[in-house]
Parts: sequence; C-alpha cells; structure tokens
Amino acid sequence: MDKLEQLKNWVEESENIVFFGGAGVSTESGIPDFRSVDGLYNQKYKYPPETILSRTFYVHNLDEFYKFYRDKLLCLDAKPNKAHIALAKLEEMGKLKAVVTQNIDGLHQAAGSKTVYELHGSILRNYCLRCGEPHTAEYIKSVDGPPPCLKCGGLVKPDVVLYEEGLNSDTVNGAIKAISEADMLIIGGTSLSVYPAAGYIEYYTGNKLVLINKTPTDRDDMADLLIHDSIGKALDFAVNGKTEE
Ligand code: NAD
Repeated sequence: MDKLEQLKNWVEESENIVFFGGAGVSTESGIPDFRSVDGLYNQKYKYPPETILSRTFYVHNLDEFYKFYRDKLLCLDAKPNKAHIALAKLEEMGKLKAVVTQNIDGLHQAAGSKTVYELHGSILRNYCLRCGEPHTAEYIKSVDGPPPCLKCGGLVKPDVVLYEEGLNSDTVNGAIKAISEADMLIIGGTSLSVYPAAGYIEYYTGNKLVLINKTPTDRDDMADLLIHDSIGKALDFAVNGKTEE
C-alpha cells in the first residue's frame, strides 16, 4: 500500500494520537530550520547557531545574541501552514491528544491547537529577569540591543530554553505522559539530534510510530512507517485526503 494511504488509515483507526515535531514543521511557513541546506547552519555567521543560542553566549554577548534572535528566530509575520492546520483539526476531531514541539514560534496555537507542550519555550513569552514583568514579542522586536524592562529597566529575556539550560519539568512530564499513553506517535520535521527532547520519543510503546522527514535521521530504523516527504503534504493527505497545493 502507498505510504500516505497507510498513514491515513492509521490516523482513521487511532484514537490517541500524539505528534512530536521540530523546526521542519515550520519551514513551510518561511521559518528556517537548523539543518536543512538552506537552514541556519548553512548560512554564514561568526558563530554557529548552537553557540549563539547557549546560556554562556547569552551572558557574555548580549548585543550579538539579540541581533541573531531578532533576525532569525523572532518571525512574527509567519502564519501556520498545512501541517499545523491538519494537526489542529485532528485535535478538534478528538483523535489527537497532544502536540509536543521543540519549536518556539507559537504556530501550533495560532492554528488552533490547544494541548501543546513547548519543550523549548516560546518567543511569545518574555520576562524581565529582575522583576518578572511580561513583555510582548513585538516589543522585543521593536527595540535595538538588549531589551530593557519597561517597568524597572532590568533585562528582558525571551522564555526560550537556551543550550545549557534545563527544560521546564511540568512541560516535560506532560509530554512524556502524553507520549507514553499514545496509540499512534507521529514524529515529523525534526533531525532528532537535540537532547534531551529527542529522547522522549522512547516513551512510546505502541506499534504505529510514523516518522515523516524530508531527509533521513539517525532514528529512521525505529519507525513502523517511514515517509521521506513534506510534512505539510503528508499530514494534509492523512487528515483531508488530498495532496494538491
Ligand atoms: P533541525 O533543523 O535539526 O531539523 C529539521 C529537520 O526537518 C531536518 O531533518 C529537515 O530535513 C526536516 N525538514 C525541513 N523542512 C521539512 C518539511 N517541510 N517537511 C518535512 N521535513 C522537513 O530541527 P530540530 O530537530 O527541531 O532541532 C533544532 C532546534 O532548534 C530545535 O530545538 C528547534 O525547535 C529549534 N528551532 C526552532 C525553530 C522554530 O521554532 N520554528 C526554528 C529553528 C530552530
């Protein structure tokens, strides 16, 4: 049977689907991922993205961090694509119980998804490190250099998890619980190379693990159904039965 037909059949017969995704889910919304040919690793910077997005770099190079962050991660004009929309529809149908994402762009919620575990935080939440005052992403985008708190003048930091920082334990526990209870796990748009997040897929114990990614990953062998294709196209077909643009 055709792989997309197989995916559609499994979605139809499953009642507790969980989706685990990464930056590849949002490339069709115009946000670059890290490891594709046109991803951030293949663009020219003084430092690799993993270095810039580390706690150590943040503490010592605030100006450079915020420049990169505004240019490459603070994509406030991006809109949900077919993948986000199909997943929101699956949740509304009562079939999908949770989206677990490594993304920080908020596009799953923009598409209508309600239960979203954002393992790496969100660009849409920003807090003053001194007094805790929340600030909008639009404010972070609008200023030059490190954003000062509008209330106390302290430094405002996006609520995104930098390399060397720990993940929120409530978010991790919720994600692990959802994955361990799922009857179908769809993994998509992720190189599965960022830990500890990538390790959470090990909590799935069922026999309908679908891996949808444009390029091979180190974990392809664990998939019951492996699809090397566009995540938007695959999910749109699985939920709406069509693949045309
Ligand atoms: P990654 O860049 O390591 O891997 C992305 C994978 O998605 C690649 O293997 C690529 O082949 C695949 N891909 C790209 N476009 C695709 C498409 N349309 N359909 C199917 N597959 C596609 O991303 P990662 O594994 O998520 O790890 C990078 C880290 O940086 C994560 O924490 C990630 O969330 C974060 N990040 C987030 C954003 C965002 O919020 N949109 C953007 C860049 C990086």
